Amino acid sequence: MAESAAPAAHIATATATVATAGADEADLEVPLVAPPPQATIRALPDRHAPPPGPQVARVRIESSLEGALVAATDPDVGPRLSQVVKRVLVWWIDVRRDLRRDDALDVVYEVPDDGAEPVAHALWFTSEKLGATLSAVRFKAAGDAFARWYDANGEEVELRLVASPIDGYEQVTSLLRDGRGHRGVDFKAPVGTPVRAPFDGVVARRNWSTRRNGNCLELHDTKSGTQAFLLHLDKIEGAVRAGSRVKRGQVLARSGNTGRSTAPHLHYQLERGGKVLDPFRVHQTRRRRLSPEDLDAAKAALARFHDMRAGSI
Ligand SMILES: [Zn+2]
Repeated sequence: MAESAAPAAHIATATATVATAGADEADLEVPLVAPPPQATIRALPDRHAPPPGPQVARVRIESSLEGALVAATDPDVGPRLSQVVKRVLVWWIDVRRDLRRDDALDVVYEVPDDGAEPVAHALWFTSEKLGATLSAVRFKAAGDAFARWYDANGEEVELRLVASPIDGYEQVTSLLRDGRGHRGVDFKAPVGTPVRAPFDGVVARRNWSTRRNGNCLELHDTKSGTQAFLLHLDKIEGAVRAGSRVKRGQVLARSGNTGRSTAPHLHYQLERGGKVLDPFRVHQTRRRRLSPEDLDAAKAALARFHDMRAGSI
């Protein structure tokens, strides 16, 4: 990100009254990312084409975040940017219930040329419920494979699971409490990322309903009665079969994009006695902090995006 070469921020400001789409996503699997723009959406005239580089969207919530972002951007970018932003907000609020009229969101974002989903760089969220304005910046720490979201103090916005089935993931893209009716946690991760046993247990099943689940494993924790489901795997270790004993932390498989899956990710689901459990409540959790050097760099990045945002007022 060359500071001097950064194009002037394009500003979009809007409020909107568009109702939430209310998509029914009660299936076991849901799309990991918002669908690509539909072919039926006509090409927008050139004068509406967003300029390349970072842009600022400033919205005030009237009824829905998506509606506000559609009004501030366009019908193609708005819904996709809304998905990206919600994946950050979900760690602060219940996005379904806690957004209030007149809550404000400023986001610095970019739309890649290749049709990939928008990239948000920084955001500021003013919430009546929280009684505060929170900020976050997407930052790649030294030695990390992926950029992740950090708050102004350098603490990771996402919680991490202790004894997680996967560590080398980019982002949690679906949570139980995000209101989408999804029964598992989705970890966006490159195909081939190691998948580990979250507890000492036994393999109950391997590869059932593969059209939907792809390569998959079901594990049982015989002590607690917890069942764990790991779906859309690429490869499963040959020795990991029904009846195999597994040790917490043991690599069982590699994450993939098999079955009904629209992008590489691991679906991780826990159940006990027929009830779906939230892994972020069952597992212990932690948050990472940036090193002092990385914290300085992240603060500088946030300050640059803040200048861009301030220039739009
Ligand atoms: Zn899933």
